[in-house]
Amino acid sequence: MRSYSDFYRRSVDDSEAFWAEQARLIDWQTPPQQILDASHPPFARWFVGGTTNLCHNAIDRHLDARGDQPALICVSTETGLERSYSFRELHAEVQCTAASLLALGVKRGDRVLIYMPMIAEATFAMLACARIGAVHCVVFGGFASGSLASRIEDAEPTVIVSADAGSRGGKVLAYKPLLDEAIRLSKHKPAAVLLADRGLAPMDRVAGRDHLMRDLAAQHRGAVVPCAWLESTEISYTIYTSGTTGKPKGVQRDTGGYAVALAASMPHIFDARAGETYFCTSDIGWVVGHSYIVYGPLIAGMATILYEGLPTQGLDRQPDGGIWWQLVEKYKVTVMFSAPTAVRVLKKQDPALLKKYDLSSLRALFLAGEPLDEPTGRWIGEGLGVPIIDNYWQTESGWPIITIANGVEKKPGKLGSPGVPMYGWRVKILDESTGEELSALNEKGVVVIEGPTPPGFMQTIWRDDARFVNTYWKSVPGKMVYSTFDWGIRDADGYFFILGRTDDVINVAGHRLGTREIEEVISGHANVAEVAVVGVADALKGQVAVAFVVPRNADGVEGAGALALEGEIMRRVADQLGALGRPSRVHFVTGLPKTRSGKLLRRAIQAICEGRDAGDLTTMDDPATLQRIRQLLWP
Ligand code: ATP
Ligand code: MG
Repeated sequence: MRSYSDFYRRSVDDSEAFWAEQARLIDWQTPPQQILDASHPPFARWFVGGTTNLCHNAIDRHLDARGDQPALICVSTETGLERSYSFRELHAEVQCTAASLLALGVKRGDRVLIYMPMIAEATFAMLACARIGAVHCVVFGGFASGSLASRIEDAEPTVIVSADAGSRGGKVLAYKPLLDEAIRLSKHKPAAVLLADRGLAPMDRVAGRDHLMRDLAAQHRGAVVPCAWLESTEISYTIYTSGTTGKPKGVQRDTGGYAVALAASMPHIFDARAGETYFCTSDIGWVVGHSYIVYGPLIAGMATILYEGLPTQGLDRQPDGGIWWQLVEKYKVTVMFSAPTAVRVLKKQDPALLKKYDLSSLRALFLAGEPLDEPTGRWIGEGLGVPIIDNYWQTESGWPIITIANGVEKKPGKLGSPGVPMYGWRVKILDESTGEELSALNEKGVVVIEGPTPPGFMQTIWRDDARFVNTYWKSVPGKMVYSTFDWGIRDADGYFFILGRTDDVINVAGHRLGTREIEEVISGHANVAEVAVVGVADALKGQVAVAFVVPRNADGVEGAGALALEGEIMRRVADQLGALGRPSRVHFVTGLPKTRSGKLLRRAIQAICEGRDAGDLTTMDDPATLQRIRQLLWP
């Protein structure tokens, strides 16, 4: 095995040679003339002069070697549908959808907004856009009309691809009325709407605008649609950040750099190989879904599983099943990718479920999206008996910034740390007020990235270069560096620890504390399933910590039990972090408010605590969670 530190050093010291080598992992129609153009910082243009196509790399180039192997495996415990498409079948479906889009007037560079559940047609639509050079803008299915409308206005799509309905835990959510309302609200109107009809909800169709996918498919079955050869720097897609900290940002990505970044990450980070099966439990509406449900595995010649349903179902559609593990066994999954929030849901189930299936094909489970607390990491690691690899990244980065490059050197992980900087990323920890690099160990600062940023990183904010530069590159005094807006430290072995977002810091009597550190201590208590800590204004101390805890065992947190648990939690924090971090109150709740991508909405909880308006909640998952907190605090 190679040494990761040599691998990393070369990627930053001899960066162009390094990436020129990685660029050979994909097919180019015209090879790049220049590896990197960094003449206009902070913009980085990768593989200039090269032409390629994401769809070609994901499908066409595999046809000879593995045309009849599975490429896309669709499983829904919502509808009971299970269907696998070989690379050849996927090739045909994508061309058919591409021909339909062309017939509706979509041209290269036009935007196509995709608002769909986790069904095959969503993947066909994404790949069809890539094939013809249209820019896809996938919006998480089930977002309310308001959020959808603002994205339609921002993207100005020629066509919107959608479906009659999504389904979650057996509850049908009709999409079409939400879409119609969103189009009504939006100043921009799409020329056409293309609809998958799953037979879940009735649809009213607007004459002349709305088309059924199956009607157009009937006309275009067998269509041959060649790949458009795009400039490496041409836009492949835009996607919005989760909106945890405020208004979502429209992240814009290129074509060639992204293809190379993903192609390289499959062997180097995931230790994944062609012909195997990759299972990512995210949603196509998020960046993880773009990179590791759709493009990454297919570019690597792997089969990818697209799963619609809750993690707690069974293939037989019964609740309390172990669907994930059933799929691992059935499709011999080698690499799995999920999020801590989903694992925490499973943690409430019987651990025996994990032992029921043959999971011997699995080599590692990757988790991303939010901090992986130690108890959750340990629980799943012991249950599966494979390495659990945390990985830290952002919608902006497109692929992991900090993790373990499992295919380069199987470095041991450390609980609580996502690992070390990935090749190509110049990650630094800076003092937020002076901008000085913090070289001392375990000194807390802002995690930043020095340019030039590696391939796959966002090009800019869609139609707003100024916002891109001002938001991300000007927040640290005196230096043009990209701020992740996350706190971190680095230990003696070079491992990074992410300590939360820069706006999740509280100031207690002049001392700055990360809410995340307090949460970590509380989540170590055996009866705590989930926790959120926020800073609440306090006349005396400036701010105090207030904790919201979802107990693992709901009985016993009434009355005296609650008082006892509250006391234990307070003592625990005081013992481990000091009295300043001790929450002034611990509230027990049944659920915490999160974004649709499963991230804690601390700012909303904080606003409620302080009696303020909770602000923009359009990206929120279950409004009832916040409602219950409001009732608890302001009865
Ligand atoms: P917005 O930028 O709109 O407020 P967001 O930051 O939640 O939303 P994402 O791009 O989905 O949108 O999330 C990236 C953020 O998630 C990171 O900046 C970090 O705060 C957090 N995160 C992701 N992975 C990890 C991880 N492995 N450990 C700790 N934090 C993580
Ligand atoms: Mg963010």
